[in-house]
Amino acid sequence: MLSTHKLLINLNEAQTAAVTTDAQHSLVLAGAGSGKTRVLVYRIAWLLAAEGVSPYSILALTFTNKAAAEMRNRVAELLDKPANGMWIGTFHSIALRLLTMHHKEAGLPKNFQILDSEDQYRLIRRVISDLELDEKQWIPRSVQGFINDKKNDGIRANEIEDFGDDNSSTLIQIYQHYDDHCLRGGLVDFAEMLLRTHQLLLNNPPLLEHYQGRFGAILVDEFQDTNEIQSAFIRLLAGAKNRVMVVGDDDQSIYAWRGAKIDHIIGFKDVYANVTQYKLEQNYRSTNNILKAANAVIKNNAKRLGKDLWSEQSEGEPIQYYGAYSEYDESAFVAEEIEKLIDSGIDGDQIAILYRSNMQSRLLEENLLKHNIDYKVYGGLRFFERMEIKDVLAYVRLINNRHDDVGFERIINTPTRGLGAKTINQIRNCAQINQVSLWDALNICINNKVLSARASTSVAAFVNMIDEFDYNHDKEDLNPLFDDVIERTGLRDHYQKEPPEKALTRLENLDELLNAAETFVKSEEDDQIGMTALASFLAQVSLEAGERSSDKDVPCVQLMTLHSAKGLEFPYVFLVGLEQGLFPHQNSMEDPEKLQEERRLCYVGITRAEKQLFMTYATSRRIRGRTQGCAPSRFLREVPQDLVHQIQGNIFTTPRNTMFSNQESSPFAQYSPGILVSHKIFGEGTIIELSGQGDYTQIMVEFQQHGTKILAAKFAKLDIV
Ligand code: ATP
Ligand code: MG
Repeated sequence: MLSTHKLLINLNEAQTAAVTTDAQHSLVLAGAGSGKTRVLVYRIAWLLAAEGVSPYSILALTFTNKAAAEMRNRVAELLDKPANGMWIGTFHSIALRLLTMHHKEAGLPKNFQILDSEDQYRLIRRVISDLELDEKQWIPRSVQGFINDKKNDGIRANEIEDFGDDNSSTLIQIYQHYDDHCLRGGLVDFAEMLLRTHQLLLNNPPLLEHYQGRFGAILVDEFQDTNEIQSAFIRLLAGAKNRVMVVGDDDQSIYAWRGAKIDHIIGFKDVYANVTQYKLEQNYRSTNNILKAANAVIKNNAKRLGKDLWSEQSEGEPIQYYGAYSEYDESAFVAEEIEKLIDSGIDGDQIAILYRSNMQSRLLEENLLKHNIDYKVYGGLRFFERMEIKDVLAYVRLINNRHDDVGFERIINTPTRGLGAKTINQIRNCAQINQVSLWDALNICINNKVLSARASTSVAAFVNMIDEFDYNHDKEDLNPLFDDVIERTGLRDHYQKEPPEKALTRLENLDELLNAAETFVKSEEDDQIGMTALASFLAQVSLEAGERSSDKDVPCVQLMTLHSAKGLEFPYVFLVGLEQGLFPHQNSMEDPEKLQEERRLCYVGITRAEKQLFMTYATSRRIRGRTQGCAPSRFLREVPQDLVHQIQGNIFTTPRNTMFSNQESSPFAQYSPGILVSHKIFGEGTIIELSGQGDYTQIMVEFQQHGTKILAAKFAKLDIV
């Protein structure tokens, strides 16, 4: 058995008070890195070891599966035995468990099925069509958003106030029909999981009594990001007697767009009686410079509870600012700095790169690969593995080579062309019998009229479309082809229709793919063996996607969005793309509420860093195929200048046009912006900028005939004209 003394020596006074509290309800409201998660873990161990509480009476809720696994491990480590019997999980995983165990009471068949967002969308479309409504007026994605928002708020169709106008009555009707459909089919969407679990307990007094009797101790991490129904679920289980401990930080609330409400943490004391509040003010994670920077930024938010955070650690290194000429220069810098860190003996997994938007990963990935640095995209996919990117590439592969069966299979019905499994199987069978590619089989099927009339029309249109992409294999500029594919296949429209947040990410990724296509330059080797630019591009992409895929034993640099970095910590953090319009995000700049959420996101980002923080921005960036000048993010200026070392650029004093010093002495000193050069393949062009150092120096040239290209200085063999 664990000695309670051993437990408490690892906690400070305030933490000890929280861990050993005998208050019924407790709220730990404290800033980043002050040990909130640690308090929860130690509290569980304390309850078991000192108070003799049964593991069966513990219910601990966290935000992600990773956090739940981490919590389980940390408890087991402290207790020196597996954390059996306790329920530790995310809200969804706990809800799923309850629904499975009590499916009858919940009104679900034993083998009920979970509907993911895509399935839900499809079902909603069907309901709209069953009701003979026009999809143009009742846009399925908006209806989906409406239903989920209501469910997150715990509101059923029959509880929505009907104002009698056409709009609300119809939405209520669709919601009701959709729910009826789900019930008949035993289908449960994500929001439903939580709502139904809540109702399961609410409507079954004996069951509620059972669980209220069981979970004597309920603990919730990241409480600032709970939505209405999650908060009601906890309240219900708490009943009159159970003990609830919630921990969180109002400054880290970053999910308002998903229904999270900061009010739950602010109003906790009003909803629960006898709440003791604990403040943790010592930060154990970061150096004082990092902490001061974080505090200075968040201070600019109006709606705050306000907290003080201090650290016993030294000042540490200043925050490193790097103003890049462009996003290319930015990612080259990040990769070079990481290489230096790794060369100095630091493991890759001690380093994280955080960005606002998913699409920013592409260039970072490209530069890490160039430097042979192992990396992992956490909580997401590598750029070229993302669905929308693979869809476009599948079309392009088919255009490049009609017999690419993998590409064919992927897009024959994406976006949907109304082809059923039966038609697709007919094509597959035909291919097998005749030993030909799917493309040839499809043509055989059309000629022999074996498909249904409807399927025939649809696939004939598909064949025409692919044939019409008139790709000239000698072309070096791939952008027009990709652009054409994204528009004409309907992929852009297809992704546009997803729920707003998802659609935004996918469209940003598609635009980034266009950037990649435009700036692509085939390697000398590929050129020598006569590869076309397109073939070379596709080959490089396959290599990149396949390379170093999740080799578990290697300590990898972690890439992730700021949202998925919540709760995590890393000794070295690169916060990239700090520009107005990117971070704060374009969609949030005008709205004061949203701007404050962006700032909280920035606070989350800064406070992930333990030892050293790099913040980078680019003064120009290609967005939607156009190079635009970018202003440094307002958040950069909110950090006091004395905490900052500016490696390149100066955001505090110097006017923008003289912001940069000249390129350091480099082996490519003869090249500089404005100079006219000539290239073997692309002809003449003007140098726009240089980035990177030494052998990694890259030159961006605007060619008169072939658009903008980024070339490796070492291999480009540019002649000065
Ligand atoms: P966040 O707001 O980012 O979720 P948090 O408040 O949950 O942060 P923790 O992750 O629990 O903070 O703790 C931050 C770091 O400080 C961890 O590495 C943790 O182990 C360490 N830490 C916390 N309290 C102490 C302590 N009393 N002694 C030593 N280390 C501590
Ligand atoms: Mg935490």
